[in-house]
Amino acid sequence: MESITRFYPRIVWIALVSLESDDTSASPGGTVIRPLLEVPDGENQDLSPLANEIARQRPGKISVYQGRNGRYLLAKRAPAPSNAAVVLAIDARLLLEPEERPAWARLRLILDGQALLDVPAVDAGDARLPYIAEPHFESVIDGESQRLSLTLDRPVSLADFLPVKQLLGFAAVSGLALFVMMFALRQRAVTMESQRTIQKVEARALLRERETLLAHASRVNAMGEMASGIAHELTQPLTAILSRSQAALRLASADKPDIRPISEALEINVREAKRAGEMLKRMRDYASNRAPKPVTSSINAIVTETVALTAADLRQRGISLECGLAPEPVQALVDAIELEQVLHNLIRNAADALEGAGAKAALIRIETEAVNGEVQIVVGDNGPGITPDALQKLFHPFFTTKPEGMGLGLSLCATLVERVDGRIEAANIPGSGASFTIFLPEAQAQDTA
Ligand code: ADP
Repeated sequence: MESITRFYPRIVWIALVSLESDDTSASPGGTVIRPLLEVPDGENQDLSPLANEIARQRPGKISVYQGRNGRYLLAKRAPAPSNAAVVLAIDARLLLEPEERPAWARLRLILDGQALLDVPAVDAGDARLPYIAEPHFESVIDGESQRLSLTLDRPVSLADFLPVKQLLGFAAVSGLALFVMMFALRQRAVTMESQRTIQKVEARALLRERETLLAHASRVNAMGEMASGIAHELTQPLTAILSRSQAALRLASADKPDIRPISEALEINVREAKRAGEMLKRMRDYASNRAPKPVTSSINAIVTETVALTAADLRQRGISLECGLAPEPVQALVDAIELEQVLHNLIRNAADALEGAGAKAALIRIETEAVNGEVQIVVGDNGPGITPDALQKLFHPFFTTKPEGMGLGLSLCATLVERVDGRIEAANIPGSGASFTIFLPEAQAQDTA
């Protein structure tokens, strides 16, 4: 019995008792219980009140009885004819090791409705928020008698479902993640936008480069077309210079040469040679392939240069050219060569229209004027004019009515004028040919080219 209590510390007391009839008792047929052997535990287990009940027990069957101080008793009778019984006292508190007890629930061991053990929950739900449920677990431990039961109760508060700290932490982490994600997306959008802008700028630069190449090719081509007129223009002064020089030589070889006619002839020769040199320079500039650079320029001067370049060709084709230039200086921010090219295209188109028309005295008239902060350059002719259908498509690339035409002249003119924030419009002069007007923002009188 001592070994049992040593190995099973929860069994705190064991006694072997004998049950004897008590004839002296006030209640006849009563039973007296007498300990035969006992492992004492300091508690004075008084079994007398249980004597009758244990005596009534069927031999071999175990019954459970209420003890004192959180104990309960198990009693078993020996088989007849013995009148002995074994009684054990069990400390309910030792049934579960403290570390085995569920700290999250209230634990009770109940015998006959009386709690032998009642351990409150250590970390119950947060009572600051209302309890929303109290799950209850109950199990009968003593199967035979069905009297000893174990219950677990766990109040569940709203806080168990909504743990405030975790929620706040989660919200903070998700907020941060969202912010990082938004930041990354924004960065990506900005990068893509910048890339698109760079691509647009690059595409525009490439287009501009190609337009400049086309403009140059077109000028070289025009120069080829003008070659015979220009050759004629240069031959005349060269022939005159030659004959004048020969005459001067003859005068100089006389015994007493008269210096005056010789120096007069030389003066004229110098003037003529300069004119021819200017013509060659004009041609070289016109055909040059330098990058365009808009500067504030005198529009009248550009018109005069263009007229000088085209005069020979027009003369050869029997076309007169008149200029009505603004008396006051008119200026605009342009690249002189490109504006010359635009004017030259318009003059050439007018000349083509006039050649086709035949008959009347072919005339091209160029006018310059400053109106309401705009410089206007009008190139008009007294040719057949433009049909309403052609008027719609004049500036479309590849629109032409000429058998040998490319249809690029006017679209290139529009591009070059738009580059310097200008525009070009075409119209018919009622009863007399076509007119093209270039509009340019007027510039202040400074940095004149
Ligand atoms: P192309 O000279 O190669 O035809 P353009 O773009 O310079 O190309 O001109 C397009 C068309 O515009 C011409 O074919 C012609 O029909 C018309 N055009 C241009 N200028 C005049 C003008 N002054 N009078 C009548 N038609 C014109």
